[in-house]
Amino acid sequence: MGAASKRQAVFCQLCGRRIVGKGRSFRHETWPEGVTLSICAACERDKPRCQRCGLPLAAPSASGLCETCRASLPVCLACGRPVTGKSLEFDGIGPYCLDCYRTRPPCDICGAPLTDERWQLSDGRISCQHCQASAVFTPDVAGALYDQMKKAVFSQLGFELNIPTGLALVDRNQLKEVIRLQTEDKPVQSAGHQDLDPERTLGIYARRGMRRGIYIQTGLPRMLFLQVAAHEYAHAWQGENCPILSDRLVHEGFAEWVAYHMIGYYGYRDSQERMLARQDGYGRGLKWALGLEQSQGAQTVVDACRNMA
Ligand SMILES: [Zn+2]
Ligand SMILES: [Zn+2]
Ligand SMILES: [Zn+2]
Ligand SMILES: [Zn+2]
Ligand SMILES: [Zn+2]
Repeated sequence: MGAASKRQAVFCQLCGRRIVGKGRSFRHETWPEGVTLSICAACERDKPRCQRCGLPLAAPSASGLCETCRASLPVCLACGRPVTGKSLEFDGIGPYCLDCYRTRPPCDICGAPLTDERWQLSDGRISCQHCQASAVFTPDVAGALYDQMKKAVFSQLGFELNIPTGLALVDRNQLKEVIRLQTEDKPVQSAGHQDLDPERTLGIYARRGMRRGIYIQTGLPRMLFLQVAAHEYAHAWQGENCPILSDRLVHEGFAEWVAYHMIGYYGYRDSQERMLARQDGYGRGLKWALGLEQSQGAQTVVDACRNMA
């Protein structure tokens, strides 16, 4: 075959022709020392280049990138394709490509583009796999998050409960039962929850006699658990400090305001945006409270609630 005699010959690694005269060697900065791409002068002149590193390509590539650059690109978490242009993150998780963002329905918890791996929560919301992966299923995890949240409410917003109020994880049917007992027991107490739909409610603060508790549906994604726990914790504080408060805007607005600050404290900025975007009584109440806080401080919001009772 004459292999021995041709050992010194150098062939262009793109077109395969023997390099006569001066060839050129290219190297990707991530390649190991000594690994090069040797090509002929014609290829150096004519071949398309990687748009990222300038390496000559054997043929034009759809991404405009060489294999090495392509392989080093982050991959969209929804469609699995390399993200070449701008990418997005949702509540700190990404990247997602713009294509997926534009064409796929969003996760109701974090706003990320949904894939086939999705879960429907009992209130009708659809959650993505990343939100689902953080779901709170055990009393230990729930209790630890609740304790942490109570401390954060105190340090950030300056109030706490005087009467011990536990938190219990319950399944959907247990939660429905708590809601049923609460609404038949104390029609006045639950004035703020007039439109409470047992099928779509994820948590409730309930009082029966001396017993007080926050009941939260098991399996909620962490962000939603915190949002619901903080909202109901605020209602628990109202139950202690302004039990006959009947102004719905203040009642729910205060609870949403506390939840808004808590999920912000935990870094869920996109989720805060979605709370603000609500056009219903919850969204209006939140805007009322934030407006008051902006002009007169957080303590004024707490006092407004207390004094309106
Ligand atoms: Zn060549
Ligand atoms: Zn490249
Ligand atoms: Zn994608
Ligand atoms: Zn999600
Ligand atoms: Zn509420």
